[in-house]
Amino acid sequence: MRRLIAGTGWKLNNTVAETRRYAAAISSWATGKALSNIDIFVLPPFTSLHAAHAAFAGVPVAIGGQNMHWQDAGAWTGEISAPMLVEAGCRYVELAHSERLQFFGETYACVRLKVDKALAAGLTPIICLGELQKEKAAGRADTVLQEQLLTSLTGQASARIPDVVLAYEPRWAIGSAEAASPEYIAARHGALREILRKYYGAEVAEETRIIYGGSVTPKNGKAILEIIDVDGLFVGRAAWKPEGFIRIIDLVR
Ligand code: PEP
Repeated sequence: MRRLIAGTGWKLNNTVAETRRYAAAISSWATGKALSNIDIFVLPPFTSLHAAHAAFAGVPVAIGGQNMHWQDAGAWTGEISAPMLVEAGCRYVELAHSERLQFFGETYACVRLKVDKALAAGLTPIICLGELQKEKAAGRADTVLQEQLLTSLTGQASARIPDVVLAYEPRWAIGSAEAASPEYIAARHGALREILRKYYGAEVAEETRIIYGGSVTPKNGKAILEIIDVDGLFVGRAAWKPEGFIRIIDLVR
């Protein structure tokens, strides 16, 4: 049985003070609630990680970085390493988000190095996978997903696939007006599970969690969660305020 996940990435939002307020709201809501059957994560900006770790201390909300470098240390100006994330209290790290690929020139070849480093450091990589609008229009979505998935998992990760979280995030649905339709999501998640089965075996396919992100809201989230191969929701805008994230967690738990 795969544990369901409710997660949010804050992107370039929430100062330390705002992080403390957000965590206080979630903590007071979470007190006394049954949340032990799901995994909850929040991905604050780097400067808020320490504060978030301290502020979520009493509740089952894990934190993670929104990116990291594949080296532990060195001449890499502006970067953050896996040991630094671990030191800040992170359990997760998001890799290959569409905005990293689009605006910062990241490739899946470097994502692969990061996946290996994250696993070696004891972090759970959340690997974003998704096709562009033009790849969707050309009927290439599943081909693109396969390329991204196999490249990301080529290294040491190939022996530890159930330790990663796959996030199907169609790039055209991120930050847009509407999520992908439930039928479309079901087809892509089904394809991803089939790729896992074909290349890594039935057990890995059965155990690996695949969450959906891309314009999820408390309104459309329920129908998405009902899809058999969807193991959770990964939310941006709709969870930037604690009230929004609480509504998402409430759908998942
Ligand atoms: C995201 O950026 O990963 C995301 C899911 O954003 P949004 O929910 O705002 O589309």
